[in-house]
Amino acid sequence: MPMSPQAPAKPHETYCVVTYGCQMNDNDSEIMSGIMEGRGLRRVESEADADVVVVNTCVVREGAEERALGRISNLAAFKKKRPDMVVTVAGCMAQKEGERLMEKLPQADLVVGTRDLFRLGSLLDQVTTTKERILAIGDVDKPVFLGDEGVRRRHNVKALATIMYGCNNFCSFCIVPKTRGREVSRPVRDIVDEVKRLADQGFKEVMLLGQNVNSYRTDGADFADLLAAVNEVAGLERIRFITSHPKDCSDRLIDAMASLSKVCENIHLPVQAGSNRVLRRMKRFYTKEQYLELLEKVRERIPNVTITTDIIVGFPDETDEDFHDTYDLVEKARWDSAFIFGYSPREGTKAATWLDSIPEELKKHRIQRCLGRQEQISGEINASCIGQQFEVLVESVSKRRESEVMGRTRGDKCVIFKGDSSLLGTLVRVEVTESYPHTLIGHQLPTA
Ligand code: SF4
Repeated sequence: MPMSPQAPAKPHETYCVVTYGCQMNDNDSEIMSGIMEGRGLRRVESEADADVVVVNTCVVREGAEERALGRISNLAAFKKKRPDMVVTVAGCMAQKEGERLMEKLPQADLVVGTRDLFRLGSLLDQVTTTKERILAIGDVDKPVFLGDEGVRRRHNVKALATIMYGCNNFCSFCIVPKTRGREVSRPVRDIVDEVKRLADQGFKEVMLLGQNVNSYRTDGADFADLLAAVNEVAGLERIRFITSHPKDCSDRLIDAMASLSKVCENIHLPVQAGSNRVLRRMKRFYTKEQYLELLEKVRERIPNVTITTDIIVGFPDETDEDFHDTYDLVEKARWDSAFIFGYSPREGTKAATWLDSIPEELKKHRIQRCLGRQEQISGEINASCIGQQFEVLVESVSKRRESEVMGRTRGDKCVIFKGDSSLLGTLVRVEVTESYPHTLIGHQLPTA
């Protein structure tokens, strides 16, 4: 498939990465950025200024897919003006729709799947020298190279580290096992070495990433063992992880969270629905009652733990009664916050073979009801923080006022207080004076 006849005469100098979706995509974008910087390309923020544009896509929800497609479509105009620009489509949409994207998006020079992104450098060379369009979609289950050398991190204080790829669960609504393949865990030693390098570079916090970190397994070690090993890394202050499947949230993990000093008291436990009938159809393998028992256990054993969740409303055939069960769970679970979405069918999943029977208006209404109640609960929980003192890791200067900084508590609550850039990367004590459902306001306390 030949590219434009006016193919590049001058070497590429700049690149831009546009990322959609989850933290795993963020980390993949950092890896691809590192590969390009390793080849001498300089990062720019706008596609208009880039010689190489990578759009890292997500297919988990229809909205993210449409936004990425819109962005890639817009690149056609840039490409017309500058035919030597290389347009790359990466990520889950590339993995799932590779052939179709090549047909549908003539401006795409390279379409690269989730397990081929580590080859980005040689693929870009190939596109440049052969002037051919390339589709690089390997078997989604092939072994993946999980190196971290030269990753270009987006933040200075906290870093992402992928500990495993893929998922074996096949929840009936989820396309991830098809776009990211079966589970592959990185060896403990490789992860610990990566975290040591991060700590040496001055990072204070690491977020361990996997579709279901609770099923991390390698060489006889499980996720609790991995947390214990990472906890030993000198210089690192905090460890977070995402995502945990409630069915695999073991006592060992809860105990590890309770006992390891650097593991933050915060866990994301996506429930997805509160109706046992819907949970069965989603293939989640727990009931509402078991989920509530798990919350109780986690809260009992880990003092001050914060818990967040994901909910899908409007799943095929969700009755008023099913929805009521979900609303009731919002009431009973009292999560610190919840991400609430309307169901959107994903082609290739089991649920997509069922009629998407809930009208969009009803989905929106159900989202609003759950969100409204969750906002009140988040507000009440945050209001109870007023007067309390928290250890806060300062992450950035506030976007609104230069005289303020933003940091996070161990429970991942966002706190704004007076300060300047000299505080970045430090741990300070802050007393909370005001609260909103998503933010706390406070003032820094003198060090003891
Ligand atoms: S656990 Fe379920 S929802 Fe999560 S990535 Fe795997 S299949 Fe998707």
